[in-house]
Amino acid sequence: MIAAWFKRFSIVAIVLTASQASAQPSKLDVQRLTWAGIKIADENTTVFVDAMATDIWNGDAPEGFHKPEANTERRYALVTHVHNDHFDAQGLRDLLGDRGYVICHEPIAAYIASRGFQVIPVALNESVNRGGFWFTALPASDGFGDAQVSWLIVSGDTKIFHGGDTLWHGSFERIGAQYGPLDVAFLPINGVSVPGPLGAYSPRVMTPQQAVDAAKLLRADVLSPIHFGLTGAPGYVEVDAPLSDMNEAATDQGVTAVHLKPGQLLSLNDAE
Ligand SMILES: [Zn+2]
Repeated sequence: MIAAWFKRFSIVAIVLTASQASAQPSKLDVQRLTWAGIKIADENTTVFVDAMATDIWNGDAPEGFHKPEANTERRYALVTHVHNDHFDAQGLRDLLGDRGYVICHEPIAAYIASRGFQVIPVALNESVNRGGFWFTALPASDGFGDAQVSWLIVSGDTKIFHGGDTLWHGSFERIGAQYGPLDVAFLPINGVSVPGPLGAYSPRVMTPQQAVDAAKLLRADVLSPIHFGLTGAPGYVEVDAPLSDMNEAATDQGVTAVHLKPGQLLSLNDAE
């Protein structure tokens, strides 16, 4: 029943299925969604990050498509960047309803507003407080040079990091020093290569080994992999075995890795 069990200070993280979680109410649940998406919910507020509510994979989504849902009045959707595997305008309109907001980095705010959303823009390295959560926009490096941020989401003592599909960059150590330790870091691991002048030496997304190093520098108790498992897409070539490469590197480096499948929950509770 319990796939994993971790403890730091008073925080306990347990991997649960959705039905197990509803049978065991928790302070904060983090649900992995399809591809890079996650959902964080307490009893009043639902927070999505890079949530895909539309199956852009036409029934062939990596690890299966999980349609996200929201049951609270207050709803926020964070986006790391506007590539179509991270920003699903049609799907988010349905998820957020009339009263929800998109929270994003300032440079993409006008574009997102033009798609019909109420937007809360955030400057890099600054935070906003909504619905009992703090959201901080942190540096990222997009593999195609587009605007991208990572998100730190804080609720009470719980700190969750979401790395979109960033490349390796030099800010992980500073972020870890400033905000760590973190309860969980969701980091991309597919090390993808695309057609062009480059081979596979300089991928467009972090490799599994780089994600493990990033989790270490971020001082994350748990590394949870996202953004991997897409096969057969023309011109999009991931490393051969992202998940097992990450697990091997995590074991080498003493990093705790927890793989959540789309729909699975990490339940972050006070231990008392
Ligand atoms: Zn992506």
